[in-house]
Amino acid sequence: MMIRVDLHIHSKYSRATSPNMDLKHIAYYAKLKGIDLIGTGDFTHPKWFITLKKKLVREGFYMYNGVHFVPSVEIATMGKHRVHHLIIAEDLDAAYQITELLVKKGVNVKSDGRPMTGMSPPELVDIVHNVSERNLVIPAHVWTPWFGLFGSKSGFDRIEDCYKDMTSKIVALETGLSSDPAMNWMVSSLDQFTLVSNSDAHSPESLGREMNLVEAHDYKSLYNAIVHKRVTTIEVDPAFGKYHFDGHRKCNVRVHPGEGVTLCPVCGKPLTIGVLHRVYDLADREYGFKPAGAQPYYKLIPLKHILSAVLGVGVNTKTVDRAYTDMIRRYGDEYSILLNPPTTGNTKLDSVLKANREGSLNVIPGYDGVFGKLSL
Ligand SMILES: [Zn+2]
Ligand SMILES: [Zn+2]
Repeated sequence: MMIRVDLHIHSKYSRATSPNMDLKHIAYYAKLKGIDLIGTGDFTHPKWFITLKKKLVREGFYMYNGVHFVPSVEIATMGKHRVHHLIIAEDLDAAYQITELLVKKGVNVKSDGRPMTGMSPPELVDIVHNVSERNLVIPAHVWTPWFGLFGSKSGFDRIEDCYKDMTSKIVALETGLSSDPAMNWMVSSLDQFTLVSNSDAHSPESLGREMNLVEAHDYKSLYNAIVHKRVTTIEVDPAFGKYHFDGHRKCNVRVHPGEGVTLCPVCGKPLTIGVLHRVYDLADREYGFKPAGAQPYYKLIPLKHILSAVLGVGVNTKTVDRAYTDMIRRYGDEYSILLNPPTTGNTKLDSVLKANREGSLNVIPGYDGVFGKLSL
């Protein structure tokens, strides 16, 4: 069965996360969005783990209110290089053992659902794989400036510089909101890794904004699909991000990194460097190159943003809320609507939904703190 999978979220026990990130709201929004399987997030947190143990029922994966779950957590390794790692455990027993080993190493798992550790990335991989070879360590949102493995601020230039002798245990990378597969294809050393995409949601509304389509019915089949690159990702256009291009907000200057401009042509100050620039720095291929065996992906703009653009009102308005709820009621969950656009009778909306599905909508790229914008 083809399922929609979002492996990276945070519970209410992570810092800066909505108090609504509990099982009830997560399951409710998962159904609204059309997500079949969700990473629990934060399994190292004692209170969240007790909830998971109590409420989740074993059924293929785990189940709560009709939504499947798989144990996951994000861990930050600190020091000169700061990297976030997404960890997927094959079951709750494995999750518990990982937490115990982390606690033995002195990791504080109680204060934050996303624990930090002074341990090195290879040490972390060693712990996770000692519990079970089928657990996964996936470098999270690899291009974000802070905490991404390749981040411009505290990352590495090569994956093996991060994971050293444990690099062979890494099978997948998370593209994150700031990159899509096409950007990653510019770096040939990444060809060997499976690309996965997740929401990193801190609130129920953000669940599934990026996710994966995978043929799976239990952990083993999910694991095999990830190892063998049988994953189609759903991406939001990275141009939406507020640091995609280089630029200078004060002077309204937006520059593609390929242009090689580093100083603001208006005021002469250095431009704020965007995420795409970092990809160009590490790239050994032109943009547009597609490696053999590349995974398919969809670039989809979330329904509320589509409705906001079509109706000409802000995304956080009652008008958009009402239109969204109405569409869900009439046509089913959000990602079924986005992947198989219905005929609504509103010709403008129908043509935008169709263009979205084909990936042909135009986003004016974000830069220097200015969000990217959908242009119709
Ligand atoms: Zn993170
Ligand atoms: Zn300027």
